[in-house]
Amino acid sequence: MALKTPEEFEQSLKKLKPRVFMNGRKVEDILENRNTRTVVEANKASYAWALDPNHKEIMSCYSPLVKEQVNRYTHVSRSRDELVKKAEAGTFTAENLGTCIYRCVGYDAFHSLASTTWEMDRDLGTAYHPRFMEYLRMVQENDLSVAGALTEPRGSRNKKTLDWPDPYLSLKVVEKNKEGIVVRGAKINISGAYASHELVVLPQSAHSQGEEDYAIAFAVPSDTKGITYVCQYTPYSAERDMADDLQELGNPLFGQRETSMVIFDHVFVPWERVFHCGEHRYSAKLVTRFAKTHRMTCGGTCKVGFMNQIIGAAKLIQEYKGLEKASHINEQLTEMVVLRETGRACGLAAAHKGAEDPEGSGVFLPDEMMGNVAKLNICNAFWRAMALAGDIGGGLVVTMPSLKELKNPEVKDYVEEFYSFGSDEPTENIMKVHKLLQNWTAGLHGVGTWHGAGPVMAQKIMLQRVIDFSHEKNLVKKTLRLKEKKSEQ
Ligand SMILES: Cc1cc2nc3c(=O)[nH]c(=O)nc-3n(C[C@H](O)[C@H](O)[C@H](O)COP(=O)(O)OP(=O)(O)OC[C@H]3O[C@@H](n4cnc5c(N)ncnc54)[C@H](O)[C@@H]3O)c2cc1C
Repeated sequence: MALKTPEEFEQSLKKLKPRVFMNGRKVEDILENRNTRTVVEANKASYAWALDPNHKEIMSCYSPLVKEQVNRYTHVSRSRDELVKKAEAGTFTAENLGTCIYRCVGYDAFHSLASTTWEMDRDLGTAYHPRFMEYLRMVQENDLSVAGALTEPRGSRNKKTLDWPDPYLSLKVVEKNKEGIVVRGAKINISGAYASHELVVLPQSAHSQGEEDYAIAFAVPSDTKGITYVCQYTPYSAERDMADDLQELGNPLFGQRETSMVIFDHVFVPWERVFHCGEHRYSAKLVTRFAKTHRMTCGGTCKVGFMNQIIGAAKLIQEYKGLEKASHINEQLTEMVVLRETGRACGLAAAHKGAEDPEGSGVFLPDEMMGNVAKLNICNAFWRAMALAGDIGGGLVVTMPSLKELKNPEVKDYVEEFYSFGSDEPTENIMKVHKLLQNWTAGLHGVGTWHGAGPVMAQKIMLQRVIDFSHEKNLVKKTLRLKEKKSEQ
């Protein structure tokens, strides 16, 4: 059984007992809590699409590992064509959820682990790769949802890890024994982890000699003893908590992007789930391979899907207002489409230019340059799309009253009348579309898009490492027939 139904996925979550806190209280049941439920719904949808005849070609694929069809979010790409499908799956998932994909960080971490464990075994004679592939087989056979955790609290950024007064601001091995390792520390901003079956953990950054205890990668079930989730809580969380009717929220079913801090308090990890432990030179490889894969996802696939939601809402509002012929609005909508297509083009280019990395590993990763360009480009493009949508939407994007006023006998007739633009459209629809745009333009998505997969400086640093200007210099030398340096003449 490699593909679970959405109902089986929900049943399987009931067996897990993650320790979750939100808004100062314990979340007794993540399926019942209104905010954590949104993550369950989002993950559940990915199970439905993998079985849906209309979407299964993108959302599932054949796995040679288990010799049957698996959810694409559990598969490691083995060709450029699969990287392209990966990109398409990202856009499809994001545009239909209108929120975080949640499963993409784990999926991208799988790519990095498959590639780097293979390389470590080749270079160091370790046995991590078969161990990781065995783990992946188990994930695929049981069709598990896997979240990915890299980001750490960290200490003062102008000091090295070993100089921080608290050694646990980066996740650290505190004990090693015959059975496995024990870790202490935390990961922050982790998307949807409590509603996944498993967490796959990578180092956040490169490590040097002396930092071996921080050079770790492993996987654990999400309700492992010692793991605690402290969830984000935002005005949107409070709104959902208090809403009489979820239909009035900007994204009723799938909600906002939900994250949590994941605390590891002396968590035991058996050796068969440890994929990197002490080989500090390979931490950087794990991180950069994850980063280029995830930047393709965040920059060139999921934000393309998000922009489709924003463009759709802006277009509807243009029509409600009878502004179809307003040339500046048509220009703005065109600009939004251009921004979206530039994002998509970068994502697809990263996939099409992807390569087996390292050669012989059988693992295909997106192109480093284009993955980073995709993310860097979308950081600004997304703010711009938000601004354009805000202009088209008008002040109502942030001033719309509650949909409950449509049932309030004191004002309902006024609300019906004065929020209808005199159009034939039901006023409720008009109000809901404005709420959706509020969710996109005045909520968590701007900063979320900027920082998810790393802030812009991280992409710029990476680009400066990979850009090689020799081709361009040689072109100029050839065009002008420049002479050799004096010392070389
Ligand atoms: C919605 C959302 C979902 C996320 N989901 C996940 C997830 O599922 N898994 C996961 O692992 N992570 C996740 N992240 C984390 C994300 O990858 C980080 O937020 C991102 O890498 C930025 O790190 P930070 O938030 O600690 O910001 P910081 O690193 O603190 O960045 C803040 C500023 O400080 C600058 N800065 C930081 N360090 C230095 C330095 N040493 N020198 C100079 N300048 C510096 C940065 O350039 C930036 O300008 C998510 C983040 C968001 C917002």
